[in-house]
Amino acid sequence: ALDAALFIRWMQAAAALVDREAERLTELDSPIGDADHGSNLQRGFTSVAKALESDPPTTPGAVLTTAGRQLISTVGGASGPLYGTLLRRAGKALGDAPGVTAEELQAALRGGVDAVAQLGGSAVGDKTMLDALAPAVEALGTSFADAAEAAEKGAVDTTPLQARKGRASYLGERSIGHQDPGATSSALLFAALAEVTA
Ligand code: ADP
Ligand code: MG
Ligand code: MG
Repeated sequence: ALDAALFIRWMQAAAALVDREAERLTELDSPIGDADHGSNLQRGFTSVAKALESDPPTTPGAVLTTAGRQLISTVGGASGPLYGTLLRRAGKALGDAPGVTAEELQAALRGGVDAVAQLGGSAVGDKTMLDALAPAVEALGTSFADAAEAAEKGAVDTTPLQARKGRASYLGERSIGHQDPGATSSALLFAALAEVTA
């Protein structure tokens, strides 16, 4: 089973990847946003890593709810509440089990993705983080590596789409031809999960 220590390593790996890719995320957010996605998430995941280090939760569910709470309170912008909702909802679904299966994680994240869609009023195809999150969660049924690959493909495939939600949607057709920053950071989350489970 996947335990709290593994989930902590997942969040730490995500923090490291966000740190490494922060400049790129902000660059992607320049033409179709307000050039802050990398710095938003860098601030958020730095605080997630700190919180998990100073007071390590003992269940997978508590790791995700703690991480979600940190993101909501430290990331300004649309992505904070959305990622916070994803992780808090998934954490809540995992309850206080000391270990969870990949199937249980998949079901919990599916609920989290539904909550993101509800909060954002968004759907797959709107050129948002959902375009990476939704296929990744479905591919989790196969393997962690497949989920990471599906998320990356979902992110790349946002490029030809016209944004229907978030700041990028203000640009209308001019949002076409740019990869969505939030979908790109979602791919990092799943890359981190594949990394720590490999
Ligand atoms: P802001 O747009 O407030 O500056 P960020 O730059 O941190 O926030 O995050 C932007 C990302 O958030 C987008 O690239 C997109 O993936 C995601 N996003 C924005 N609005 C929505 C929404 N309504 N539903 C789902 N995702 C969204
Ligand atoms: Mg932004
Ligand atoms: Mg902003």
